[in-house]
Amino acid sequence: MNARKKSSFQKQLIQWYKTHKRPLPWRDTHDPYKIWISEIMLQQTQVSTVIEYYHRFINYFPTVETLANASLDSVLKAWEGLGYYARARNLHKSANEIVQRFHGKIPETLEDLLSLPGMGKSTAGAVLSLGYGKPAPILDGNVIRVFARIFRVTENVQHTHVVKLLWEIAEDLLPSENVRMYNEALMELGATVCKRKNPLCNQCPVSSFCEAFHYSIQHELPIKSPRQPIPHFHVTAGIIWKGNRILITQRPPSGLLGGLWEFPGGKQEKEETLDECLIREIREELELEIEILKPLVSVNHAYTHFKITLHAFECQYKKGRLQLHGCVNAKWIYPEEIENYAFPGADRKIIEKLSSQRIRLSGPPNMD
Ligand code: SF4
Repeated sequence: MNARKKSSFQKQLIQWYKTHKRPLPWRDTHDPYKIWISEIMLQQTQVSTVIEYYHRFINYFPTVETLANASLDSVLKAWEGLGYYARARNLHKSANEIVQRFHGKIPETLEDLLSLPGMGKSTAGAVLSLGYGKPAPILDGNVIRVFARIFRVTENVQHTHVVKLLWEIAEDLLPSENVRMYNEALMELGATVCKRKNPLCNQCPVSSFCEAFHYSIQHELPIKSPRQPIPHFHVTAGIIWKGNRILITQRPPSGLLGGLWEFPGGKQEKEETLDECLIREIREELELEIEILKPLVSVNHAYTHFKITLHAFECQYKKGRLQLHGCVNAKWIYPEEIENYAFPGADRKIIEKLSSQRIRLSGPPNMD
């Protein structure tokens, strides 16, 4: 785009944003800390879900210092249900680094921001532009889609040289002033008008610049690699009673669902019944012997790269001294203490299903 065209693209976009923007809580602030939290939450989660979590998180941890001083358990608890828990762990780690290395001030340079765990270039661009008003480009999923259509990018947008090209476009189009509103407008356009399916081109403020619209190929762009088929696993979980308490275990701090608590169990292997699976897993991971009393509920849950059906069984501890292989912590808790711990979505579904079916988690099973 030449300079004149660029300037009218920026103006039309900003003008549209002023009248069409959605009132979102993180738009009421320029606090780089709050912008950072909202951007991390929005990475893999829809706006409608994020709003409630954002309010709660900021309420619990209003500043970077409060987040740094909090326990990881309490941060995971505030994040419980939002998924992709590495985001919460990285926020907590980053908050500590910000306090130690940057005296509690969210960094103001791209280089310093990118040195923080879990910080990508687009999130850093959002913190710099929306928080500090600095001329930094952004390129999240929505913006990639907008640029791929406007500039009719007919190659796979996941390929490195195309990503590089898109960043060049993002930098080239960036205005020298009003960057904050321009970046917000770009993201808003992708989220509300230039949608993945059925883009609303007849409502688009920049359709006159859009090559994909001009050639009527907006539905074909952006081009991405086809999705791999998602495998499905059956997983068991034991609600294991010992006296009045049940056993929960904590996953290692990194990796899938790192740091969360769960009912012990594991993945069913080939030619193994669910009962056999659960007994084997409890033996291997905790060196405990259990008796399975009855199946309780089964729930389905989808992760990014696989799906599971989690089968929960009521069990009785029989013998053995608790040892940890795989998990990093284990506790015998009273059922009413469950709400003090952060559980993954699938385990949380089990807890909810049991309480909605009025299945007692308030005392040991009747052994008569
Ligand atoms: Fe997206 Fe359509 Fe606007 Fe092009 S004209 S940017 S495809 S909404």
